[in-house]
Parts: sequence; structure tokens; C-alpha cells
Amino acid sequence: MAAPQPEPDSVPSAIGRDAELARAESAAAAVAAELRRRAAGLDGAAHDVLEAQALILEDPAARAGVSERLDSGVTAERAVFEAFAAYRDLLAGMGGYVAGRASDLDDLAQRVIAVLRGVTAPGVPHPGHPFVLVAHDLAPADTATLDLDEVLAIVTVEGGPTSHTAILAREKALVAVVGAAAATWLVEGETVIVDADAGRVVREPDATAIAAVSERRARLAAEAAEPSAPGRLADGTPVPLYANLGDPAGAADAVALGAEGVGLFRTEFLFLDADDAPSRSEQQGAYEQLFTAFAGRPVTVRVLDAGADKPLAFLGVRHEENPALGVRGIRALRRAEPVLRDQLAALADAAARHPVDLRVMAPMVATAEEARYFAALVREAGLPSAGVMIEVPAAALTARHVLAAVDFASIGTNDLTQYTMAADRELAGAAELQDPWHPAVLRLVAEVGDAGAALGRPVGVCGEAAADPLLAVVLVGLGVTSLSMSASALAGVRAGLAKVTASDARRIARAASAAEDAATARAAAADEAAFVQD
Ligand code: PEP
Ligand code: MG
Repeated sequence: MAAPQPEPDSVPSAIGRDAELARAESAAAAVAAELRRRAAGLDGAAHDVLEAQALILEDPAARAGVSERLDSGVTAERAVFEAFAAYRDLLAGMGGYVAGRASDLDDLAQRVIAVLRGVTAPGVPHPGHPFVLVAHDLAPADTATLDLDEVLAIVTVEGGPTSHTAILAREKALVAVVGAAAATWLVEGETVIVDADAGRVVREPDATAIAAVSERRARLAAEAAEPSAPGRLADGTPVPLYANLGDPAGAADAVALGAEGVGLFRTEFLFLDADDAPSRSEQQGAYEQLFTAFAGRPVTVRVLDAGADKPLAFLGVRHEENPALGVRGIRALRRAEPVLRDQLAALADAAARHPVDLRVMAPMVATAEEARYFAALVREAGLPSAGVMIEVPAAALTARHVLAAVDFASIGTNDLTQYTMAADRELAGAAELQDPWHPAVLRLVAEVGDAGAALGRPVGVCGEAAADPLLAVVLVGLGVTSLSMSASALAGVRAGLAKVTASDARRIARAASAAEDAATARAAAADEAAFVQD
């Protein structure tokens, strides 16, 4: 996937205004024709979006904007850049639905400039055959809309293992290696093995390596198809194992892989592309689909978690310099309370028609007061169980107060690690610090586990840490009572838990928590666990 085009320099044209105008017009026409070619193969909203983009390029006002800028003697590249940027700013300033179209103008400008420069247009390519997508970075919205018949695997230079792109890939069982700095060496058309387990990309593998991979894929598919028992420790202590989902379409597979319920339904993933707040009936349809697949079982739904790499245009959060620390999660919802109330009402309606053991939780809660606010709204909506995600160190350290206000907690180790280590989860360069094995993170988990035990509140983990079989044992040893993960990880975690008793888990957890850093914590836990199995 070609990288975005750099901003064209403002240099004088060498060929004159009229020749530049002809270049700009022909590049715009070429892009419009390409958009129409792709639109012809699609229907519904996808068709309409591409058709609308083609129309924008042909709009007389857009063409006049380019022509006007050429009067100052610049190149076609610069004139297109400036004209589209001016329109983009205009739309962005109007807010609401119209502001949501601003990014379309950036995309179009990028495409026209790529044609003018004779380079590949940025964005997900459509070569017409299955391929491995290699990108500098992928936005969650790009990943959510990838066509899985076309994209066999993804490899990105940027991104950490808990970035939402990686999470979405995991949920779609899409093989992915992220944070692979050397991916820039890969060239179009070569054959690669993308080994997500090992975090490696093998170039030009020989026939033996390809045969070994095919055999491993077949074995994993057969193992996944085996029926599974509920999660429990060797001494019989139950540890329910749940699935993380962002789309009800994944529910059937999760059930087949032995998910005992849903521990985290990321509702914002349904609406990453939406310009307007989803209607109650639109939401209700998605929730009913999910509840049908998990009839009568525990389903934990998280209300919209907007912010950082998951902006939701309709919540009206303004641009922030530091969005990971900004108006996100429950903070953003609180400022858009009608959206939150609608969501709770849609959940109540869906649960009335398709009963499940429904639990609703709020993201990014930092204080007990926020927890009380949310719980009151959940109860007002007639819903039975209100919880909070513990992802902010402040909430973990004051867990007794926070948990007193609600019925349960679920620890989001992805954000909890990011905020504890001050290491951006989207940044490959900080991936080493983004490690939930760090004893600082484990101690915060223990705070929450202790508070849960003292108050009789269940404490789950739904961050990616729950999917690591040894770390799952540590989390249980720290007082965590259920684990939720992408469904493909359930079998490994189930097998790991079955090998230890509750007191083994506590001992392994103590060894890890006393360590100096993440690597030594992992090694200490592995040593203790090996001792148990001997
Ligand atoms: C987390 O932060 O661990 C979590 C589960 O939420 P998300 O990954 O969606 O931020
Ligand atoms: Mg989170």
C-alpha cells in the first residue's frame, strides 16, 4: 500500500498555466474514471461512495478552485493540493455530517497528485487477486473494511501488538505481523510466509517451508474444530472464558471455538465509518444478532469507546493535540449524553426480545464519580448490571471506591499498560515498553483483584494480555475471575489454565509481580510454572 503523498512544494511551473491546467484536468478525469470502474463492481453504500467521489472531481467549483490557484504560477500538483485543502477546511469547519466528508477530499487530492506524479495512489490496492497487504500503517477503519477474500494477511511497519488494527485483525482471524520495520524491503510480487505466531515474515520460502506452513495451518484448523469444555483450573475452580467481538458476524465462530459468552463487545467498531449517530433501531439490529448467538449466556457490551485511533465523528470531539489523554471513552459519551442514553435503550430493547445475561460497561473510567454516573444511567435504562473498564491507573489504584459504585469490573490491559508505561500503544517504536507483563501493570491488576474480592465483585480481563496462556495464569493468580480474548486464543488459554491449581496460580503471580521488569517477570512465571508441571 503506497504511502501518502508528501505535500507538493510551492515552486513555479516550468510549463505554464495552460499546460498545468490540462495536466490537472486529465489527472482528475483519470481518477474519476478509475473510481467509476470500481463502483461498477459494487452495490449499496460502497457503490454510492465511489460514485460521489467521482462527482466531486467533476464538480465545476472544484475545477475552478484548481484553475484559480494556477493563476499564481504554481504546478498542477500544488494547485490541486491547495484547492482541495481549502475545501476540506471549509467542510471540517461546518461540523456534523458535512465535516465527516472532509477526509474524502484529502483522499481525492492524494489520488490526483499521485497520477500527476506518475506514482501508485495511496490506499488499499485492488489488484483483482488475493494478496498480502504490506502497509506503513493501517487505520482501524481500513482494517475493518478489508475484503477477506482478497487480503490473505497484513504486514505493517508501524503499530503495536495492542493497536486496534492488530486487535481487529485478530478478531477477523486475519494473519497479521505489525511493527515490522523491515517490511519496507518487501517488493511487489514476491512470495512470503507471514507467520503471526512467531512475528516473522519469511521472504521467498522454498517448497519445504511452504509445505510445513500448510501442514501447520491444517493442524490448527483441526484443533480449533474440536469440542471444548468450560475454562477451569486443575482444582476445578471455574474461570469462564469469553470472546472479544466487534461485529456480531463473528459470534458463530466464537461459539464454535468454545466461548462461554462475550467478555467485551466493542460497539464502536460497528460505527467507525458513521457520520451520524447510529439510530436506535440500527443498533438494536446488531445487538439482537449478537444476543441470538449467545442466548441465555453472559454478554458484556461496552458502550461506545471513542477517542485516539477510534474517532467517532458524530460525538463531536474536537481536534486534540494529545487524544490518548483527551476527551475519550466515558468522557466523550458524557458530553453526548443523548447518544449514550439511546445506546442503553437499544440494548434494553434488544435484550427484552432476545434474553441474555447482559452486562454493560463504560470505557476509560478514571474516577468513582464517573462510575456512579454511568451506573445510574444504566439502572435508569432498566438494565440489570453496570460495570466499568479499568484502564486508567487512577481507577486501578482507587478500585475499592470505583468498584463500590458498580456490579463488576473488566480490566483493559491494553490501555492500562499504555498509561502505566507512558508508551503509546500505536507506536512500534515504544512496543517494548507496551508489555502487560511489566510488574507495575501486574500490581495494578492485583489492586483491582483485591478490591473485587473484598467487595464480592467479579473482575475480568478483556485486554490482549488475557490471550497469553501463561499471563492468563498470572492474572487469575492476581484475583481475576474471568478472561476474555479473541476467539482464536481460547484453546491455548483453556489448556494453560487446566494445568494449575488456584494456589499454583497465586504463587506464579507472586513470582512475576516481584520481578524487576517485563522480561524477568515472564521468565520468573515460566520457571514457577515449569516447577508446577514437574
Ligand atoms: C483495553 O484497553 O485493554 C481494551 C480492552 O479496550 P480497547 O483495546 O478497545 O482500547
Ligand atoms: Mg481500552
